[in-house]
Amino acid sequence: MAKLSGKVAVITGGSSGIGLATARTFVDEGAHVFIMGRRQAELDKAREELGRSVTTVRGDVASLDDLDRLYATVKAEKGALDIVVANAGFVELATLAQATPEHFDRTFNVNARGTFFTVQKALPLLRSGGAIVLVSSAAHLKGIPVYTTYSASKAAMRSFARSWAAELKDRGIRVNTLSPGPIDTPIIDAQAKTKAEADAMRAEFARLLPLGRVGEASEMARAVLFLASSDSSFSTGIDLVADGGFSQV
Ligand code: NAP
Repeated sequence: MAKLSGKVAVITGGSSGIGLATARTFVDEGAHVFIMGRRQAELDKAREELGRSVTTVRGDVASLDDLDRLYATVKAEKGALDIVVANAGFVELATLAQATPEHFDRTFNVNARGTFFTVQKALPLLRSGGAIVLVSSAAHLKGIPVYTTYSASKAAMRSFARSWAAELKDRGIRVNTLSPGPIDTPIIDAQAKTKAEADAMRAEFARLLPLGRVGEASEMARAVLFLASSDSSFSTGIDLVADGGFSQV
């Protein structure tokens, strides 16, 4: 029996990497997905790849107007919502000494503020029995030079999950965080100047991880499915760490 039969899900950043793998898994499990991203070409590719049960909405989670448009589309097409996966994220490397106010704002505007309003604006549509999954990062559990603002913004997401789990329990809505370790997606390339540099980063991550490899987006999709489905019916406010042992061993 499909785990998300008849469910309606919003996945921000659903056009690439972990979000796209999650969209594929959700559709295979019977859900209709609304995916949001800024680049129309990537959304079009994702829609073609998924083939069915998908609506694309172009937009930026840092824009409140775009989020309003996302949920207006959900309301018009489906009337209500069961699952929100706040997955869109931004990373830019800078040490404390290098970081500019603009760098700080870019990071927090997407990862912390964007997540906050992605979930707040979903509330009127969310049905009882719903699930919210925030895609944080295992970086929030470590002190990694150059990931200062990124890790802190992801720690904010972990904190949101605790507060919202308490605030939404009486509506029957569970809220959990997924904290991935290094996963082989385009976000690694976005942190490097060249392909060779990105490959060197992947190799260095693999060397650092107890499991000896970087993760796959499909592995994160299965973890999101667990948190979004009744398989995790007795979990709320947790942080599911899926990081090859990076922060735990
Ligand atoms: P990815 O392949 O680069 O995908 C990012 C997705 O988010 C894309 O669809 C992108 O589309 C969208 N996006 C980015 N900024 C956005 C914004 N402001 N508004 C709306 N959509 C936006 O990266 P990924 O690895 O799958 O990352 C997904 C999440 O996992 C992120 O939150 C990331 O921090 C987290 N994570 C990743 C790793 C890893 O190693 N891959 C590790 C830990 C945590 P557009 O660019 O077209 O907007």
